[in-house]
Amino acid sequence: MEFKHDVLIVGAGLAGLRAAVEVAGVADVALISKVFSTRSHSGAAQGGIAGALGNEEPDSWEWHMYDTVKGGDFLTDQDAAEVLAQDALRAIYELEHMGVPFNRTPAGTIAQRAFGGHTRDFGKAPVKRACHAADRTGRVIMDTLYFESLRKGIKVYEEFYLLDLIMQENTVAGLVVYELATGAVHVFHSRVVVLATGGFGKVYKTTSNCFANTGDGVYLAYRAGMPLEDMEFVQFHPTGIYGLGVLISEAARGEGGMLRNGKGDRFMERYAPGLKDLAPRDVISRAIYDEIREGRGIDGRDYIHLDLTHLGKEHLAAKLSDISSFVRIYLGIDPARDLIPVQPTCHYMMGGIPTNLDGQVLGENQQVIQGLYAAGECACVSVHGANRLGCNSLLDLVVFGRRAGKKILQVLESLAWVSLPDHPEMDTLAKIDRLKMRQDGEKAGVLRNEMQEAMMAYCSVFRNKKDLNKALATIQSLMERYEGVAIDNRGLRFNTDLTEALELESLLNLSYIILVSALAREESRGAHFREDYPERDDQNWLKHTMIRKTNDGYNLFYKPVTITRFEPKPRVY
Ligand SMILES: Cc1cc2nc3c(=O)[nH]c(=O)nc-3n(C[C@H](O)[C@H](O)[C@H](O)COP(=O)(O)OP(=O)(O)OC[C@H]3O[C@@H](n4cnc5c(N)ncnc54)[C@H](O)[C@@H]3O)c2cc1C
Repeated sequence: MEFKHDVLIVGAGLAGLRAAVEVAGVADVALISKVFSTRSHSGAAQGGIAGALGNEEPDSWEWHMYDTVKGGDFLTDQDAAEVLAQDALRAIYELEHMGVPFNRTPAGTIAQRAFGGHTRDFGKAPVKRACHAADRTGRVIMDTLYFESLRKGIKVYEEFYLLDLIMQENTVAGLVVYELATGAVHVFHSRVVVLATGGFGKVYKTTSNCFANTGDGVYLAYRAGMPLEDMEFVQFHPTGIYGLGVLISEAARGEGGMLRNGKGDRFMERYAPGLKDLAPRDVISRAIYDEIREGRGIDGRDYIHLDLTHLGKEHLAAKLSDISSFVRIYLGIDPARDLIPVQPTCHYMMGGIPTNLDGQVLGENQQVIQGLYAAGECACVSVHGANRLGCNSLLDLVVFGRRAGKKILQVLESLAWVSLPDHPEMDTLAKIDRLKMRQDGEKAGVLRNEMQEAMMAYCSVFRNKKDLNKALATIQSLMERYEGVAIDNRGLRFNTDLTEALELESLLNLSYIILVSALAREESRGAHFREDYPERDDQNWLKHTMIRKTNDGYNLFYKPVTITRFEPKPRVY
């Protein structure tokens, strides 16, 4: 079938929903999501959304901006960080007025708690800046925005899977989309496409991310000729449940939780004397691995403990109830009594599709790609630089999702409809047919496991040239083997065998792009730590990595960082 809408938003997480709320009711807008909307990954966000409201103690947006820039190891574009920090107050009060049930202070204002890397007075001490609804902040914001977009009459195509972008001479014309319930391939014609397809933690074996986080939007943009930015910067969150990766939010440490090694020592006192357990994620993840490497993991093994036992049953129930229940369900232990085994888990992608401050996707020469927008974790407005601070993602989604929506409304009338080429779905149909017709071949799951293991072993918290090259060789051979992948299920209805095989194309290509970008950056900055180049090198590397597909493979190039207020300086906590 062919559908037609002025604006197509792909992704029903907070970025897509916030953009939708802005445009709905004014333009003809449709939302497309490969999972049922409210199952989008934003619903898993636990700890909170950052904003210098100053409800619990003095705070200012300049301090928030500074923390964001320093947290990103000075790779953050400072114009973007300024918008983020300054607009946070309006964004959070707007959510409150839409009905988000934030926790309250005794005075009735929005309650706030401490989070990693958020400080007062330009780094002097931790500050309470995270607004939260217990430890289910993403869930309640998402339900509120979903209701709001439905109230405004948005059309939703749920369980529809984007498989191709239709571009005509560098301008968006529409999308090719697969309907999971029927197996039909549809063409959508539009004047604007917003990619809000989230992250791709599924590249790694241990991750806090859901199964849907396979980076389809990022890969499709790359395949269509867009450059990608800063793809080597992958965040590992220090406290995934050992062996599972399921997240124990930083909120646990924001409420007073502490990390302990095999000797029972609170080791972060040695690594970040100022902020201790509330240092940024990259700093703590490296500290955990250092402890493990030096034999101070629990019983000499590869995990450490998160200690919440001193917080008390009542406090845990009031502020960390979901986390407490995860611990009970997955580990069968009681966090009020027992120490929780944790290890770093892949959590967030700082890199993605480059955009300007209004969500417009930027091409190779920084030119705006007509009609194409990106927002949220799939985008790189470069507000997080080399390492994102906790609670800045939810803020990024609602601030830049809204800005994209506003820009769309401003320019929509000037955008002409671009005619669709003849049968734009042919390549996609042929690809699906090839997968279904192949009789013998390897299973996608086998290849995916090998990819995830190689990325985890050779390209996680610590990296070096030898290991990155090993991973690159593995991924290249998996890409060749992918050409022979076969599926068992040839049916039409909810064929997850087929969709998982299709998703693997995105994952393999994104792994390759991460590795190439990481090999090129011969320095250590934020989440990208090269054991063979342990120092940050501003002289040569204070610049964004850009990678673009060419006929001969790829082209790496660089773009300057926007520095407005804060000159780079050593990053100590
Ligand atoms: C466990 C956990 C806890 C977190 N806690 C916090 C927190 O407390 N504070 C904070 O600031 N950040 C937190 N984060 C990070 C934050 O939640 C994410 O970065 C953010 O939710 C991403 O939102 P998004 O809108 O970009 O994408 P998502 O919420 O991931 O949504 C992606 C959407 O795109 C759709 N999609 C993807 N591919 C396709 C396709 N091919 N076709 C159609 N649709 C597609 C999906 O169906 C989905 O609707 C947390 C992350 C995790 C994993």
